[in-house]
Amino acid sequence: QTIGDNLDATAARFPDREALVDVSQGRRWTYAALLADVDRLARALLAIGVKTGDRVGIWAPNCSEWTLVQYATAKMGAILVNINPAYRAHELHYVLGQAGISTLVAAESFKSSNYREMIDEVRHDVASLERVIYIGTDDWDSTLAEADRVSATELSGIQAALKPSDPINIQYTSGTTGFPKGATLSHRNILNNGFFVGELCRYTEADRVCIPVPFYHCFGMVMGNLACTTHGACMVIPAPGFDPTATLKAVQDEQCTSLYGVPTMFIAEWSLPSFADYDISSVRTGIMAGSPCPAPLMKQLIASGIEEMTICYGMTETSPVSTQNRTDDTFEQKTGTVGRVHPHLEIKIVDPGTGETVRRGQAGEFLTKGYSVMLGYWEQPDKTAEAIEDGWMHTGDLGVMHDDGYVEITGRIKDMVIRGGENVYPREIEEFLYTHPDILDAQVIGVPDSKYGEELCAWVRMREGAEPLTAEALREFCTGQLAHYKIPRYVEVVDEFPMTVTGKIRKVEMRELTAKRLG
Ligand code: ATP
Ligand code: MG
Repeated sequence: QTIGDNLDATAARFPDREALVDVSQGRRWTYAALLADVDRLARALLAIGVKTGDRVGIWAPNCSEWTLVQYATAKMGAILVNINPAYRAHELHYVLGQAGISTLVAAESFKSSNYREMIDEVRHDVASLERVIYIGTDDWDSTLAEADRVSATELSGIQAALKPSDPINIQYTSGTTGFPKGATLSHRNILNNGFFVGELCRYTEADRVCIPVPFYHCFGMVMGNLACTTHGACMVIPAPGFDPTATLKAVQDEQCTSLYGVPTMFIAEWSLPSFADYDISSVRTGIMAGSPCPAPLMKQLIASGIEEMTICYGMTETSPVSTQNRTDDTFEQKTGTVGRVHPHLEIKIVDPGTGETVRRGQAGEFLTKGYSVMLGYWEQPDKTAEAIEDGWMHTGDLGVMHDDGYVEITGRIKDMVIRGGENVYPREIEEFLYTHPDILDAQVIGVPDSKYGEELCAWVRMREGAEPLTAEALREFCTGQLAHYKIPRYVEVVDEFPMTVTGKIRKVEMRELTAKRLG
């Protein structure tokens, strides 16, 4: 099946069920209405000259039109290129050119802002770019008005000729460790992954999923949208960008049964002074993913009644999910691991030096194989060859597989600190720091040191009203609890961590800032 065929099937089964709610626009679609709008947009794109295989860029925060464009391009076989709204002119230029985008769909709000200047600045330098369409404006309406020039039969013919192995999406990685890379994904890649995520969350047509995570990232468009549309569940968009209050309000008003977020989003919601004012008792399950999920936070979510909460682990290049908790996993499995391998995938953990599979319980690099592995990095065969070996995707993450098959992610290879010859996994120290009553959030990095090669520095965010922690107090807290070489020498008390817009903490930037400060 292709994504378009799957949407047709879901709309035929559940025509009257609610499919999509855009809370900030106050608009709703049933599956029948969604399919009608998706088909109309697909015919309009064909009418204005977009062809199967063309790249269509979308540059917008979350909105219902984003979802319409996602499914319309999938129906007529154009390759959707997700563009991060935080990009600036230089990055926009890079992506437009690198992916050879012919049509750029941009947010309505971008038309009268500096985004428009950025688009105007670069559009004439990108030879492939033929048109820019701003959502919700005259461009959008006049595009839709063209739909009648292409018949439903013509669209069906084009849709029927698509193959599940065709590329349908280019997603740029978060850029946590360097410049984002464009992962090229097929219908088979992302449709199946969305389906299995929905299976593991036990979605049915009765579920309503609150999606505050970005659509331009796989968390929103695959684990959110595709998990819903493969099961007849409803996609609820609380706000264009992340807003903790709007999210909790949407959960309450829309009676959501599932809630998504990266750890920092859940922290923001659960620490709102008004948290207790919202009734979130409808939430049964959800997904926390994207970066290491602190065990105390997971405990808090489960304690709030979200007993079927799961953690997912994955990466853009693997569509994205490789492991996930089952909804009925034990408390220990949910707080200490990222679950076990997804159906129809293989994982293994190897010694990064030799490439040999390590014994269970031993740490090594995490690799994934199966239907979910991307077709490749868009027009970067060298990078693809480096990343995928005999079908195995190198994740660059360190993990341990327990005897029962559950996996623990211990950090990124690039974040591992080698202090005086000892390998230190920041994750372990972070977990310990979370037990400090005044610490809201903690991150540990390595900074260059003339004596030990690297020294540890803890970046901490204090709870409201707590005194800033000094390095002495921090060391005292750790003494007797952590081995001496794992005790951070430095501490930085901050209000915020540097983040990617996908909500990931940029340790690269933290290392630079601390190194600069220490001279
Ligand atoms: P880039 O590849 O551009 O540096 P990125 O790796 O952050 O950025 P993504 O594909 O969005 O881009 O993120 C995948 C990475 O996120 C994984 O490789 C892993 O390091 C981290 N990650 C995802 N889920 C989890 C999780 N549950 N626990 C720990 N880490 C996670
Ligand atoms: Mg990555």
